[in-house]
Amino acid sequence: MYNIEIINCLSDNYSYICFNDNEAFVVDPSEYTPIKNFLLEKKLDLKFILNTHHHHDHIGGNRELKKDYDCKIIAPKKDEKNIPDVDIFVEQDNILNILDTSCQVFEVPGHTLGHIAFYFEALDAAFTGDTLFSLGCGRLFEGTPEMMWNSLLKIRSLPENTKIYCGHEYTLSNARFIASVVNNDSIEEKIKILERLRNSNGRSIPTLLSDEMDLNLFLKADNNEVARALGMEHANALDVFTRLRSLKDNF
Ligand code: ZN
Ligand code: FE
Repeated sequence: MYNIEIINCLSDNYSYICFNDNEAFVVDPSEYTPIKNFLLEKKLDLKFILNTHHHHDHIGGNRELKKDYDCKIIAPKKDEKNIPDVDIFVEQDNILNILDTSCQVFEVPGHTLGHIAFYFEALDAAFTGDTLFSLGCGRLFEGTPEMMWNSLLKIRSLPENTKIYCGHEYTLSNARFIASVVNNDSIEEKIKILERLRNSNGRSIPTLLSDEMDLNLFLKADNNEVARALGMEHANALDVFTRLRSLKDNF
């Protein structure tokens, strides 16, 4: 069984180091130094780097870590031209064996066209990069709202007790956006908790998929109450999602 260490990187990125007694893999190493420091401190041998997508704040540590550890880089097939030094390209439904743990690959385009998520059933963990955030979802830099909505539906179909490890700490501002659309006690309560967390430099990650399904409006575009809150009672889920995404872009 693996421990998952959350490493703060850059201004609001998270990288994740999963490790046992002596081996490790890292998901989305934003930068080299904080990851290297943790590996040295725990005397870990880095075996794999997993990249969810090609943005620099998710691959920035790749090159130096690979140089130090001769580890294998695993990245989306669709990012072949965007991510250097990759050893293993993966696509939808590939099953990887990473340090004796099975990992399922989901293609979740929208934020970028090649974006993938990694699901480890044995760890009850999904690494969602910039697709699903706690209380939000990624901006659509390359894909369409339809792609992103379908990607979020894929993640929503995972077991409810899945812990979501995402690429950024955006939760408090996401919560404030939700409160601007629907006002209820649970989101107000959540904002208070998040404000306390922020004051103590705490993290809101991982978040449980079941909690996201309760509160994250981007996972609820097919929910009548959400449609009604937007004055879109008779609209389909995709139109509701598209509206939510554009409201958030301008929030
Ligand atoms: Zn990104
Ligand atoms: Fe990012």
